[in-house]
Amino acid sequence: MLLDTQIKFLKGVGEKRAEQLRALGVTNINALFHFYPRAYEDWSSPIHIAGAEWQDQCCIKATVAGAVKKHKAKSGIMVFEVDVFDSTASLHILIFNNKFAAAKLVPGKELLFFGQVTINNGKRQMLTPSIAEPGTKQRIRPIYRRSGAITSNYIEKCVETAINQFGAGIEDPIPYDVRAEYNLMSLKEAVQEIHFPSSMERMYDARRRFIFEELFELQLGLKIRKCSNKVSTSIVLGTDYTGEFVSMLPFKPTGAQARCISEAAGDFGSGFAMNRLLQGDVGSGKTMVAAALMYSMARNGYQSAMMAPTEILARQHYETLVSFFGDTGVKVIALTGSNTAAEKREIYDEIKSGRADVIVGTHALITEGLEFHSLGLAITDEQHRFGVRQRAALQEKSAGVHVLVMSATPIPRTLAWSIYGDLDISIIDELPKGRIPIETYKIDSSIRPRAWNYIKKHLDEGRQGYIVCPLVDEGELDGVLSAKEYYDLIVSDAFKDYRVGLLHGQMKPAEKSSVMEKFQLGEIQLLVSTVVIEVGVDVPNAVIMLIENAERFGLSQLHQLRGRVGRGSHKSTCILLSDNLSEQTTARLSVMTSTTDGFLIAQRDLELRGTGDFYGTRQHGFQPVYVNDMIGNPAILEKAAAAADRLLDSDYSLDAYPLLKSEVDALFSRIETAS
Ligand code: ADP
Ligand code: MG
Repeated sequence: MLLDTQIKFLKGVGEKRAEQLRALGVTNINALFHFYPRAYEDWSSPIHIAGAEWQDQCCIKATVAGAVKKHKAKSGIMVFEVDVFDSTASLHILIFNNKFAAAKLVPGKELLFFGQVTINNGKRQMLTPSIAEPGTKQRIRPIYRRSGAITSNYIEKCVETAINQFGAGIEDPIPYDVRAEYNLMSLKEAVQEIHFPSSMERMYDARRRFIFEELFELQLGLKIRKCSNKVSTSIVLGTDYTGEFVSMLPFKPTGAQARCISEAAGDFGSGFAMNRLLQGDVGSGKTMVAAALMYSMARNGYQSAMMAPTEILARQHYETLVSFFGDTGVKVIALTGSNTAAEKREIYDEIKSGRADVIVGTHALITEGLEFHSLGLAITDEQHRFGVRQRAALQEKSAGVHVLVMSATPIPRTLAWSIYGDLDISIIDELPKGRIPIETYKIDSSIRPRAWNYIKKHLDEGRQGYIVCPLVDEGELDGVLSAKEYYDLIVSDAFKDYRVGLLHGQMKPAEKSSVMEKFQLGEIQLLVSTVVIEVGVDVPNAVIMLIENAERFGLSQLHQLRGRVGRGSHKSTCILLSDNLSEQTTARLSVMTSTTDGFLIAQRDLELRGTGDFYGTRQHGFQPVYVNDMIGNPAILEKAAAAADRLLDSDYSLDAYPLLKSEVDALFSRIETAS
């Protein structure tokens, strides 16, 4: 039995409470059991008052010494004060505004107090402790995420009732053999231990079981889906021309690039449509891999489409591909939102007639009117900028089309699996040779003039540079300049002898491309910009970047930004400027100065921010409860994957495991509605 009884049928929960619980995602008994505590308070073994040290979070069992004194503070808050004591010392209790809590403090009564101990004038005190009678609550208590009228105490009571009312009916979706092999608690035990642990060790065991369960079901679902997604296609390439393309290049592909090319080229001859993620850190050379594949398509008489998230990027890809394909006869065409209606008609015609082999563009590629002649390969660059539906729309332009999505988001292979498990994955885990590592420094505004001089020195040597400002409206914040204000400031003063350009998101597409073109051609030496340059821009002659108010950028964003320099054979420098001295900022920026490894940065980012919005997961609509644990413990994912493989080998459709099957289906319908 799936415990899908609606929450309103739980004893003591009415319509109104049920509504509030539903808002927390607690719709039925099963969801309530899986609403894990976010923390625990150990009330099981009270300590002596004399043993409590400053800032200890602890439980104390003590007797109320006398009547509660109350008075009104200047701020209007009601303050209740009383001393409590045990055999070792006394403790001062302070309660604000809560007369219900104060009413529990009956003189002579022994109670449990849980809270943080501080010391004031040499005397221990506890501010607004939780209070309970000895006996009933004397255990490790769960603390739940609360919301509005629903308190942690209320949820605790609901879970307790639910275990009494429904606990006996808990059946385990994980088959017994799997549990035995991986030493996992039964679901019934785990529900009890995660909410009301008999010890913290048992709680961790329960948690491990839930992580395993989540990953196991995810892996099962992904594997089943991947097999049934395998569609046969009539787009089969007779000859692989990627080698011919590579031999025309001015450089040698890295080993990783060569491997990724051959993995994809293998799919083209297989008779099954490719569904592949190409992942590679910024600057790893994904474009060239895509180009090799598109070249082979063209040589076999098929068209390819490559969709980029911004006009700048689409234009740049167009230029790159034109120069890659040279005079091979492979015709590249660009289509973006800024083409006029007349241009569009002509471009549509080129595409429909099959005269264009490779079509590069923005979202304009997925407009209704556009028809392809023989689309064989659909590529999405910087996939995290697109929604699932936009990618699907490109795919639907042709039946059986091969699909490649490219991403620079460095995520660990194991996590990539679980997010993109329905895709095959190729990873470029090697940068082209000869790259000189980017040097990164952190400075404050007192030496900004020196940073400017350093930039000028590079411009004088014929190099180019960026100054990046955070996204703010003009005058929005003290001391934070918008890109435009910054530009105005330096163009007539510090950099008046240089050719400076401005690029920001509010400019018209045509203005943006014209600025980018000038920068690419070297007509602009220094580009003042917002994060619009973040994605994919490639100007190898740009070797210096100054990032203003660096504390306002996410770590992954800083990494992407920094990837705009260090792309050529010159030594590059990135300067992070911030006057923010907070511990958080210092920690984050020192990650940037100590490594250029995108994978490591992503991992540190995750640690510093906690689970939250790990980008790439939220947009996919799937947010595992325990992403953190998963990243910290990849072994458990490997185990879950192995267990899933084994089970599917013996029973591909999970017919013998109806409960497991329905949980997997439920999980996937949640993922699908969310994305
Ligand atoms: P990204 O993976 O960030 O999209 P790009 O495809 O823009 O990276 O490549 C970055 C730069 O490296 C480009 O200038 C490209 O021409 C160059 N490049 C790519 N592969 C190689 C290689 N094997 N050897 C030398 N340079 C390369
Ligand atoms: Mg790129």
